[in-house]
Amino acid sequence: MSLEQRLDDLRARGLLRSLRHVESAQGARLVVDGRPVLGLCSNNYLGLAGEPRVRDAAAEAALRWGAGAGASRLVSGTMSVHDDLERRLAAFKGTEAALLFGSGYLANVGVVTALAQAGPPEPVVFSDALNHASIIDGCRLARARTFVYRHRDLEHLTWGLQGARGHAAVIVTDSVFSMDGDVAPLVALIELARRHGARLVVDEAHGTGCLGPGGRGAVHAAGVQDEVDVVVSTLGKALGSYGAFAACDATTARWLLNAARPFVFSTALPPPVVAAAGAALGVLQDEPERVSRLQANAALLRAELARAGLPGAGSTTQIVPLIVGDAGEAVRACELALERGVFAQAIRPPTVPEGTSRLRLAVMATHTEADLRAAAATLASAAAAVGAGAVQPRAA
Ligand code: PMP
Repeated sequence: MSLEQRLDDLRARGLLRSLRHVESAQGARLVVDGRPVLGLCSNNYLGLAGEPRVRDAAAEAALRWGAGAGASRLVSGTMSVHDDLERRLAAFKGTEAALLFGSGYLANVGVVTALAQAGPPEPVVFSDALNHASIIDGCRLARARTFVYRHRDLEHLTWGLQGARGHAAVIVTDSVFSMDGDVAPLVALIELARRHGARLVVDEAHGTGCLGPGGRGAVHAAGVQDEVDVVVSTLGKALGSYGAFAACDATTARWLLNAARPFVFSTALPPPVVAAAGAALGVLQDEPERVSRLQANAALLRAELARAGLPGAGSTTQIVPLIVGDAGEAVRACELALERGVFAQAIRPPTVPEGTSRLRLAVMATHTEADLRAAAATLASAAAAVGAGAVQPRAA
């Protein structure tokens, strides 16, 4: 099949993606294709991407340190701006060390592949079925045996762990699942990991800044921060910038520095990006009320949607899926919502399983109550107009 035919095929199945033009900074309100709209699809959960202190820090760092880092830190040396942020992130997460990566995608690929090489004995990676694509790709690149356990299914995971006795096991999970907004059973995962001598890696991409005391994440909310082996987190979502880090003990950090290929073979984060993330961390620490505002806003949107007959399908967080099932209907509902002033994201296969296409709504701390009430009404009317009845969450 030619590429044109493949694109036609995607179009026919409602799966073709394209880009919307945004002519403003990212924020609760933005200008899309020339029109002002309410944004409900960015992971800039605390509004820090546009925060003046964060912008200023990026600008000052560009003037002081330059635009780029020049090379991998193993090649051209580590700049103090990187070291400082790592120290602060480790203190924030309560770990001995933190290591910066180019993005959350690269961090997951790096951590999973590096830990899956840490045998003998031969490693097996255990991965939740709804983990993010970057974890899936990390498992593929690791070329280790991978056992995909059903979403949040501890019995299935236990069965897999029992079958892998004698191997070095690594369990990896999102903390907040990026498409469903539900949270991994972290206490039970720790218990299982300890019982089976497995390492546990938790991706806090959607937990950092959103859950737990002071926004420290779902791991802290569950009280297991001293027991998780590696926390991965992006700097590109609640922390408003770009990049990512792994927080862990000093030995594991040293192993990642040596064995995680995205760290070893890729240019370090640009200083303005690092400084912006540092400033965002400062704002989060100075203003923890942003986290409670985000959580209150998320609860409000979920309640408003439920009132309109659109249950949030098991979400307990700022990520609220409206599962409509059919890909075409999800796309049409999104287009209609955008025409009516609400910018939401249609999520289709392969990002989610067939038959579970949805509108993914991402709440921000900077939305107002009025914004969220109006958005819920708009989304309900858009869903009704395309005949999309809300579907209950699938069994994974
Ligand atoms: N992990 C999860 C759970 C994510 O949702 C994402 C981004 N969508 C990533 C990792 C990747 O992070 P980044 O955007 O920094 O590459």
